[in-house]
Amino acid sequence: MRNHTPTSQTMYSDTDVVIVGAGPVGMTLALLLAERGRTVAVFERWGTAFPLPRAAGMSHETVRTFQSLGLLEQLLPHLNFDHDELSTSLYAPDREVLATMAFAGDGASGFPPMVGFHQPDVDGLLSEACEAHPLVGLHRGWEARTVEQGGDDAVVTLDPVDGDQPRDGDPVTARGRFVVGCDGANSVVRSLMDTGVTDTGFSSTWLVIDTLVRPGASGVDLFGHMLDHQRPATLAPAGKGRQRVEMMTLDSDDLDHIGDADSVWGLLARFDITPDKVDLARSAIYTFRGRWADSWRDGRILLAGDAAHQMPPFLGQGFNSGVRDSLALAWRIDLILSGEAAIELLDGYTTERLHHVRQIVEASVALGQLTCNTDPQAIDALVAQFRAMHDHVDTSGEDAAITQSDWQLGPGCLLPGDAAAGFVARQARVEKDGMTGLLDDLTGSGRFLLIGKDVDPMAGLSDQARSIWQQLGGRGVTIGADDFRDVDGSYAEWFQKLGATIVLVRPDFQVYGTATDTDHLNEMVINLARQLHLHETSTSTAGQLVG
Ligand SMILES: Cc1cc2nc3c(=O)[nH]c(=O)nc-3n(C[C@H](O)[C@H](O)[C@H](O)COP(=O)(O)OP(=O)(O)OC[C@H]3O[C@@H](n4cnc5c(N)ncnc54)[C@H](O)[C@@H]3O)c2cc1C
Repeated sequence: MRNHTPTSQTMYSDTDVVIVGAGPVGMTLALLLAERGRTVAVFERWGTAFPLPRAAGMSHETVRTFQSLGLLEQLLPHLNFDHDELSTSLYAPDREVLATMAFAGDGASGFPPMVGFHQPDVDGLLSEACEAHPLVGLHRGWEARTVEQGGDDAVVTLDPVDGDQPRDGDPVTARGRFVVGCDGANSVVRSLMDTGVTDTGFSSTWLVIDTLVRPGASGVDLFGHMLDHQRPATLAPAGKGRQRVEMMTLDSDDLDHIGDADSVWGLLARFDITPDKVDLARSAIYTFRGRWADSWRDGRILLAGDAAHQMPPFLGQGFNSGVRDSLALAWRIDLILSGEAAIELLDGYTTERLHHVRQIVEASVALGQLTCNTDPQAIDALVAQFRAMHDHVDTSGEDAAITQSDWQLGPGCLLPGDAAAGFVARQARVEKDGMTGLLDDLTGSGRFLLIGKDVDPMAGLSDQARSIWQQLGGRGVTIGADDFRDVDGSYAEWFQKLGATIVLVRPDFQVYGTATDTDHLNEMVINLARQLHLHETSTSTAGQLVG
């Protein structure tokens, strides 16, 4: 990256963070940073939030993220919480169910593992929240062209545009201490960074049809992947009153007309979806790919969301992975900007998140390869294989939750050798002083948290560990009769599974590590300070740790 020499008018020269792209990931990151008191300027080429549906499944961690932003109440009407009934299946060509996974119970975050939603509703809500936030400037009608960085900041040059068309006016530059490219699959920011892209080679073009289910219509709720040599398909509920049907396109298809109404109704008839049951909302053609950027940081320039990784949507994890990126980034950037941590803290952003997302891209590609099969003999063999393995696989409840959240972060800021580190910390219902609610609501989220089971973690801290904890603004809670009562016994079960009495949770809900006694606890906190690259403060002894 070259040193920058601003040549045109600079907007927001005192902005902490400049974000390119106001998709769901850029807007979530903007809000997470602004909630920490950071100033953010977001630049987007289009005049309004993207109106067409894409993501349809929201994970429990994403719901928890929006809970932490205080957006849950506004979001709830848009989420389909029919979790007792939601399950997804793999079907043989004759519709025999080969395998089923139920999304029952709650995921680790205290919400169903996966809920249906309509992405434009959520994107619109995030856009309104950004517009309303005093620390976020959302600037529509600007397209990033170049990004350059110096030692302390980075500068984006933006052209005036109206979506994909130029508009009159001069380019502007926006300067921030950090620039984050949340500019989607064809990221300009990524192309200007010093990073390669690894491509799995998976590429498949699909027709995506969204329908509005008429009140009282029945049989329009299939959720699963259809093995079918004539035309592979996946069907899924896509938010309240909506059903999605995705079908692979074939070489013989005329892609200019396959999305025409006549053609779409013909294709839907295969699933007995007819005009008396649904209205067509839209259809669009997408090419699904599996790839990732090899590094998500180049100095003060970072990537998040589809700019950093793309995956076929078969596991419904693209948007959710992007939200995880924004969570992982917000607290790190904040700690660096506050002067508490060195910029090296960002090294772990790529190593943790890339390891996590690679597992998901590879699993999505594997499911894609299973589904995108048009060889009748290969499908017959697959069906026979499934029948031989088990007539019917049914993972329910807790197991379903595990399949949705058992991807572990890679090495970074995590207690080495701790098997629980890098997994999502549990959030469950607690009661304190007559108030019952989810733990994050009662304790406040976004901070480092020590949770003790029947022990007060703060009481066991040494002077050195206490001073680190104060520097981080961390807090401690006890799950037990005298503090936060474990309403459903969920924490008792979790701590038993962990084999620990104390858990250290990071601001992005990830378990940093666990401890069984005060010696372990103090070692864990001191180790955390080292991995955070904490600076010495006059009031703390944490600086002794940095070396
Ligand atoms: C059919 C389909 C189904 C899907 N289903 C799921 C699902 O069930 N669950 C799930 O988690 N994910 C799903 N996804 C994936 C999900 O939609 C994406 O991962 C998610 O939208 C990515 O968000 P983002 O903010 O990173 O990028 P985007 O939403 O692509 O936003 C990027 C933004 O940057 C802007 N931009 C780009 N370049 C510039 C520039 N140079 N200057 C200024 N602005 C720029 C763009 O206009 C855009 O607004 C699905 C995707 C598809 C296509």
